Amino acid sequence: MNDRFGVPLGGSRMARGAETLADALRQRGVSRREFLKFCAAMTATLGLPHDMVSQVTQTLEGARRTPAIYLEFQDCAGCTEAMLRMPHPTVAEVVLDILSLNYHETIMAPSGRAAEAAMTATIEEGGYLLMVEGSISTKDDGLYCCIGGRTAIDILEEAASKAVAVIAVGDCACFGNIPAANPNPTGAVGVRDLVRGVPVVNMAGCPVNAVNLAAIITHYLTFQSLPNLDRLGRPDFAYGERIHDHCQRRPHFDAGQFVERWGDPGHRSGWCLYKMGCKGPQTYHNCPLVEYNEGTSWPIKAGHPCIGCSEPQFWDTMTPFYRRLPEVPGLTVESNVDTIGLALTGVTAVAVGAHAVGSLLRKREEGDIRDRELGEQEETQGTVEEGGNDGQDRD
Ligand code: SF4
Repeated sequence: MNDRFGVPLGGSRMARGAETLADALRQRGVSRREFLKFCAAMTATLGLPHDMVSQVTQTLEGARRTPAIYLEFQDCAGCTEAMLRMPHPTVAEVVLDILSLNYHETIMAPSGRAAEAAMTATIEEGGYLLMVEGSISTKDDGLYCCIGGRTAIDILEEAASKAVAVIAVGDCACFGNIPAANPNPTGAVGVRDLVRGVPVVNMAGCPVNAVNLAAIITHYLTFQSLPNLDRLGRPDFAYGERIHDHCQRRPHFDAGQFVERWGDPGHRSGWCLYKMGCKGPQTYHNCPLVEYNEGTSWPIKAGHPCIGCSEPQFWDTMTPFYRRLPEVPGLTVESNVDTIGLALTGVTAVAVGAHAVGSLLRKREEGDIRDRELGEQEETQGTVEEGGNDGQDRD
């Protein structure tokens, strides 16, 4: 059985006989130009200086197989879907191949005991990257999420014990996400709530952005370490700035031009979605820079407000999704916003408030002008009509 790129599924997916990424690239017929483009894109995504492209290129070319295990718990497999649809598929697939993905329930060919044996063998050898998608059920000793008769807690603890690092893929694995939304019936938590003694990186988002996932893997393969993380365990290169800071609609926010209703002239002209509930001012993610679907678009560009999917507990703190930000419950100390976040929230709230007031005043002013003009028109019409009536009366 092959994947959509014609690569055999299950066990090691790296091309037969390929020892390094350079070998794999040659066997796949990937041109050096394509590879260099990929390395330049990854270097830029990681926020590294451009002169590091050659180091990334050289290291990746010579990189040897790193075993990896990919676990799925309480999830929808959306992040796996996103990963399988990475841009630059040929090179990104090769990067994943060099991970020697030994266990991935959704895409591996073996099943049952054979699949579990592949994971056990990898764990025994140690020195692998562990990737986790989905939240982990902890209520009632974790019995609401069992695979092969074992709880997700057991499986995670065992798999993390000999991992060199853990990548939590998507918001469920990072913070619990939808399964953890109030009232959280399964006691769902993220990986960092359970794993100790192993570095964990949170690749938040619903789903994860595949470009960022490729970048974190590239970083690990290049430097054998994880990049700088924020206090929520998210890498700075992808979650260091707010969506609002780079949003293409930001000039309209600054100009007080807001969409007021779906499909109104402002919506059709690409104005700011703040009044339609956009959570961009409170959300840290590089969506406007990286976009989705091979850089084609992203929610705000497509006309939908940001719902804050890279933030913890966004189903509880960012809802109702279509209500404007200052009225969203949870934007307080209880929402786990850090001091910087709070300060920014304050600044944002002030800015947002100022723009809203400005917009309102402008609207009122426009309304007043319109009323005045209408009044003047009516007066003029009245005079004309009166004159006309006079004429009619005279007739
Ligand atoms: S409020 Fe939303 S749509 Fe408006 S500029 Fe900020 S991120 Fe963009």
